[in-house]
Amino acid sequence: MKINVRDIKKCESLEVSYDIQSEAVKPYVDEAVVITEPVHVKAELRSSDSDVVGRFEVRGELQLSCARCLAPVPYKVETGFWTVFRKSSSVKRDEPGMGDEDVVEFDGDEIDLDDVVLQNVALSIPVKVLCRSDCKGIEWRE
Ligand SMILES: [Zn+2]
Repeated sequence: MKINVRDIKKCESLEVSYDIQSEAVKPYVDEAVVITEPVHVKAELRSSDSDVVGRFEVRGELQLSCARCLAPVPYKVETGFWTVFRKSSSVKRDEPGMGDEDVVEFDGDEIDLDDVVLQNVALSIPVKVLCRSDCKGIEWRE
């Protein structure tokens, strides 16, 4: 979802809630990940000076595969995070310490929420999951 920064400035704080469909999620996750539900996003956006501060809550459901036997393992996405959106023209390149903050640059008057949300979803996915803690892997019977 794209939000016009002027709309946020107008009302100081803007709350949106919407879904990101699985087709849009796919490019951000591993090929093996099945997106079983759209990603639900709740965002609260506030303007502070020339920045926009966003607080996000993200819920969704994915299906991963067991690292040992490849059985499908359901995985609930539940993540919350803050992001600062800053207009590219006001980002100070040589300021020390920059880069520690979660700052997303934007051009023009629009900020794109989906990219930030899906990058965070991708980061929240564990690298390895097991279908059960004592999974023995694929059993070869002869
Ligand atoms: Zn397994």
